[in-house]
Amino acid sequence: MESIHIIFTDLDGTLLDHDTYSFADAAPALRLLSQKRYPLVICTSKTRAEIEAVREKIGNADPFISENGGAVFIPRGYFTVPVGRDCGDYLVIELGTPYDHLRAALGDIRSKTGCAVIGFGDMSVEEVARDAGLDRASARLARMREYDEPFVVPDPACVDRVLAEIEALGLRSTWGGRYFHLTGDNDKGRAVSLLADLFREEYGTVTTVGLGDSKNDLPMLAAVDVAVLVQKPDGSYEETDREVVHADGVGPDGWNRAVIQILEKI
Ligand SMILES: [Mg+2]
Repeated sequence: MESIHIIFTDLDGTLLDHDTYSFADAAPALRLLSQKRYPLVICTSKTRAEIEAVREKIGNADPFISENGGAVFIPRGYFTVPVGRDCGDYLVIELGTPYDHLRAALGDIRSKTGCAVIGFGDMSVEEVARDAGLDRASARLARMREYDEPFVVPDPACVDRVLAEIEALGLRSTWGGRYFHLTGDNDKGRAVSLLADLFREEYGTVTTVGLGDSKNDLPMLAAVDVAVLVQKPDGSYEETDREVVHADGVGPDGWNRAVIQILEKI
C-alpha cells in the first residue's frame, strides 16, 4: 500500500494569492487531494476564525494549525485516540502564549524603545481591512486573535531595536510576507511535528509535505519530508539552506503545479 501523504500548507501567498486571497489557481490540485483522501492541514499565521472560513470554502475537514503554531485544532473524532483539551467542535493543543500577554508585551516594548509599534489590536476593523486588503467581514475574523499579534513598525530605523526587545522578553518575532508577527515560544515547525506524530500513530508510515512562501514557513519546511517553496509575487523565492522543491509558479499557481507533480510521482 502506498504511504499516506499529509500536506501541510501556509495560506497567504501560498495556497491563497498574496493580493486577492483567491485559491482558484490551486483548484485542480485540491481536487486531486480530495480524490486521494490525503489530509490537507492548513498551517498559517491566520486566526482560527479566518481558517474556518477558508476550510468551508475549500471543503476541508482536517485538523489545522492557527497563528504561527499557536494551537493545533483537531476535529472531534478525527483520530481514534483523542488528544487535546475540549474546545467546542475540536480538541485543541495550545502551544502559544495568550494574546492578552502579547498585547501587554507590545505596550512594554513601545515604552522601552520609544518606537511606534502598531498591532492589529491598535487598529479598527476598517483599518485592518484597508491595510491588509481584506473585506470588512474577513478583517473582523483577522482581528479575533488568540496567540499571535501581527504588527508594523512605521519607522525603519526602529525595527532592529523592537525585534531585539521582543527577544529580550523571551518572545519571538517572525515575518509573514505582509506583517511582523509577535508570538510566544512557538512556531509552525513545532506544531507540524506534533501533528505529524499523531498522523503516524493513526496511519503508521506517512510522508509529510510542506508548502510555504515566507520566513515564518521555514520552521514548518524543516519539519516535513518534502519541502516546497512557491514563488513570491516578484518571482523570487525565500532563501533557505534546506533542500527544497522550488515550485514553478507564484502562490496558488506554484502550489498547484508542485502538489500535482509530487502526487503523480507516487
Ligand atoms: Mg505566506
